[in-house]
Formats: sequence, C-alpha cells, structure tokens
Amino acid sequence: MSVLEIRDLHVSVGEGDDAKEILRGVDLTVRSGETHAIMGPNGSGKSTLAYSIAGHPKYTVTGGTVTLDGEDVLAMTVDERARAGLFLAMQYPVEVPGVSVSNFLRTAATAIKGEAPKLRTWVKDVKAEMELLEMDSAFAERNVNEGFSGGEKKRHEILQMRLLKPAIAILDETDSGLDVDALRIVSEGVNRTREEGEIGVLLITHYTRILRYIKPDFVHVFVAGKVVAEGGAELADQLENEGYAAYVKDSNELA
Ligand code: ADP
Ligand code: MG
Ligand code: MG
Repeated sequence: MSVLEIRDLHVSVGEGDDAKEILRGVDLTVRSGETHAIMGPNGSGKSTLAYSIAGHPKYTVTGGTVTLDGEDVLAMTVDERARAGLFLAMQYPVEVPGVSVSNFLRTAATAIKGEAPKLRTWVKDVKAEMELLEMDSAFAERNVNEGFSGGEKKRHEILQMRLLKPAIAILDETDSGLDVDALRIVSEGVNRTREEGEIGVLLITHYTRILRYIKPDFVHVFVAGKVVAEGGAELADQLENEGYAAYVKDSNELA
C-alpha cells in the first residue's frame, strides 16, 4: 500500500527576473489501486507537474511538498525516486546511443531492485511482455529511443512500467501520437498492471479518448497550474462533450 501526496505544490521555470510560476498550489493524493486522470488544456502545467515529481532540473519547487509513504520525494535524487517506487515515463526520453532496449531494461531493473534479475527468467519475462504489447522481438536489440516512432516510444514506456513494477506510475500524454490499435494495446498494458496488483496510476492527458480504454476512478481538471474541479469518470464524459471552456473562463476570472 503506497500513497503519493502532493500538497500546495508551487513550481517555477526560468531564473531570476525570467522566473515564471507554472504550478500555483497543486493538491493531489494518489493511493495504490487508484487511477487518477489529470485533464486540462494545453499549457496548463500538466507536464510541469510530471517533470517536477520526476525531479527534472529545469523546474524549481518554490513551495509545498511531495511525499511517497511519508518520505520527502523532493529531497531524493532521480534514481532514489525510482527506487522508492515512482515510475515516470518521461524519465528517459533521450536517445541512449549504443545501449539496447534489452540491456537498458535490465540495468534499470537492477538499479531499482538492488540486484540483477536472473538472466533466464528476465529474458522470458521481457519476451512475454513484448508479445503482449505486440512488439517485434527485434525491438529488444535496438538502441534506446534511436529512431523510435511515436508508437514505439509509448510501447517502450509501457514495457518499462510492466517490467519495473512501480508502486506509482505517472504517465504523461501516453495517448499522444497513437493510432487506435496502438492506443488499445498500450491501454491494455496499463489495465493488466491495474488488474494484477496494487499500482497507483496518474494519467495525464489533454484528450478524453484514452479514458475510453482506461477508466479512471478520479478525474481532476487542471487549469492555469492548479486543480480547479474534481469528480469521477463522469467528469471526463462531461469534458468530452463540453471541453474546458467553462473552467478556463472561471480561472481567468480568478486571475
Ligand atoms: P501542459 O503539459 O499542460 O501542456 P506544460 O507544463 O508543458 O503544460 O507548460 C505549462 C507552461 O509552462 C507553458 O506556458 C510553457 O510554455 C511553460 N513551460 C513549461 N516548461 C518550460 C520550460 N522548460 N521553460 C520555459 N517555460 C516552460
Ligand atoms: Mg499556495
Ligand atoms: Mg504536456
């Protein structure tokens, strides 16, 4: 049982006079077994929230707290965050020259678990998960992110999540750039993980379409750097029909 708690989180980008506050007091709690969707217009700060939890150096936390099971996440290095059980799909977005997917995944699993997974079972697990994600077995020997298509990047993210078995997974725009088949396959990977265990999922998205495949327990509407409305899955249906206009207007009036 894990709990990720975000309290009154304020985050800025830029330095000195150029510093701009992006997150303006975010409150959110994600527990094991729960799936939360954060939905909001472009530029509202959704990725900033994900990067801040991941520990990206460009984002400066100016106030508030993030804890995992009471431990101060903001005081942890990026590696420590992963070992504590946080999975952030955008953590490794860059090309890693000369490192195959297979070696990369085993290195990550070793770093997180503190010991190398047994080679024979590991190879079997990777193969099985890749088959479930309908990935060609040759993919395992390709260099990480080198020439990956949008769909391959997303499948690789879900493959990482499947193999690293985090307590809490943060998935940012997992649906972007996916055709319907890839969206279904990626969503099934997330849903398998939900069914098998106690994972908590924070699913960040601009569009409602992935929520037809992954039913959230909670939906948070995110506008101008904070949560402005909360509800259940029905709130996603309402956003699909009505868009964000009502919330954006409210938030402008507040500003
Ligand atoms: P979303 O993911 O909801 O589309 P982002 O978190 O990407 O929103 O961006 C929120 C705001 O912060 C935008 O105005 C964006 O231009 C700004 N921003 C985000 N990251 C940076 C950065 N590294 N440098 C400067 N501005 C940034
Ligand atoms: Mg505040
Ligand atoms: Mg974004």
